[in-house]
Amino acid sequence: MRYSGWQLLKQGLGGHRGWPRMWRDPEPKPDYDVVIIGGGGHGLATAYYLAREHGVHRVAVLEKGWIGGGNVGRNTTIVRSNYLLGPNVRFYEHAMRLWEGLEQELNFNTMVSQRGVVNLFHSDAQRDAFARRGNAMRLAGVDAELLDADEVRQLVPALDFANARFPIMGGLLQPRGGTVRHDAVAWGYARGADARGVDIIQNCEVTGIRRDGDRVIGVETSRGFIAAGKVASAVAGNTSRIGELVGLRLPIESHVLQAFVTEGVKPLLDTVVTFGAGHFYVSQSDKGGLVFGGDLDGYNSYAQRGNLPAMEHVMAGGMAILPVMGRLRLLRQWGGVMDMTMDGSPIITGTDLRGFYLNGGWCYGGFKATPASGWCFAHLIATGQPHPLIESFTLERFSSGHLLDEKGVGPNPWIQ
Ligand SMILES: Cc1cc2nc3c(=O)[nH]c(=O)nc-3n(C[C@H](O)[C@H](O)[C@H](O)COP(=O)(O)OP(=O)(O)OC[C@H]3O[C@@H](n4cnc5c(N)ncnc54)[C@H](O)[C@@H]3O)c2cc1C
Repeated sequence: MRYSGWQLLKQGLGGHRGWPRMWRDPEPKPDYDVVIIGGGGHGLATAYYLAREHGVHRVAVLEKGWIGGGNVGRNTTIVRSNYLLGPNVRFYEHAMRLWEGLEQELNFNTMVSQRGVVNLFHSDAQRDAFARRGNAMRLAGVDAELLDADEVRQLVPALDFANARFPIMGGLLQPRGGTVRHDAVAWGYARGADARGVDIIQNCEVTGIRRDGDRVIGVETSRGFIAAGKVASAVAGNTSRIGELVGLRLPIESHVLQAFVTEGVKPLLDTVVTFGAGHFYVSQSDKGGLVFGGDLDGYNSYAQRGNLPAMEHVMAGGMAILPVMGRLRLLRQWGGVMDMTMDGSPIITGTDLRGFYLNGGWCYGGFKATPASGWCFAHLIATGQPHPLIESFTLERFSSGHLLDEKGVGPNPWIQ
């Protein structure tokens, strides 16, 4: 069914009883051309573009839980392409362009809101670094504006400009950045992939990868063996576990990241703001709650829940720039598992096991990458060749030294 204003009216008049299911609930077939492990944003987008762009329809997405139960439904919804390094800025800008057309493409309201993202700076040195990044963005054709303190004040009057410890001196604004309704992205891609013949199989955990010599031939799952010509992993925080199944030791650590939502209040913040002297990012949802997050919890874990010291740390970051937050009650908090690489950049690659492909290492920022990741991963799986936009996202860079260390902090995944 095509969604439209007319359809909404028609279904409304019929008591909303005529809406079909958004995707089928098929039994797994004995074999597929491509099996994708992980029904998060990246796995679903990959399946969608495999069918849509490459005509590969015999595809299954195997999800151990439910669609949207992973990080795709747990993130703070921020999208942007405000990167310094060439490979990153080009890749994330491709994602931004896909976000901009996504609702029309998927015929689904993913609530793409280009409300801007402003990174605050608090020292001369930081201003210079942000100006450099803004210049790099503009050279790559990406929108960036350096704002002084007065311009930031006009944008977000509620910020604490008089803070003696972290004075707000200005900000780097990407006007086209913003937010996208996270789980609508999962649902939209799932619906689009299903309509093109992809089987989305929930409650189906991959427990083993079967091979014949140096070639993959299928996956062992909690619902039996499924044969596949190609197997592609897109399991985010569980990438190292899937790597283990094929004997790959990856430069990835899994960490917990928490997110928080306050009670709803009247419009306070109509852009996304990030703190430059600590790690804190905040936006206001359409329901009025402040949605925010900060640093990782700081220890390795596969548990999707966080600890109290990290909460306090994040709140302290928030209070430093937005003290009005202290008057709000926190409604909800949750955690997700982040696959942090040693240089903070992702990995999208083929492997020595023929027919086995890997997509992971998304760190803090994998949601904004979703459309480009799916686009490029589908290209790699369908053609066997890396898309030009992901030529740098290799595993080899960790042995050759060609790292993509955007923050310049070295092999410290907990601060990437
Ligand atoms: C609190 C938080 C805030 C964040 N905020 C942002 C943000 O504002 N902006 C941004 O760009 N990014 C953000 N991120 C990061 C972003 O959410 C992730 O990088 C991205 O969603 C990961 O890709 P995914 O959607 O495919 O992952 P997921 O949704 O986690 O998908 C992976 C799926 O694989 C499944 N799986 C795992 N193992 C198996 C198996 N063996 N068999 C079958 N299925 C399996 C999992 O159940 C899961 O559903 C945030 C993350 C968190 C946790």
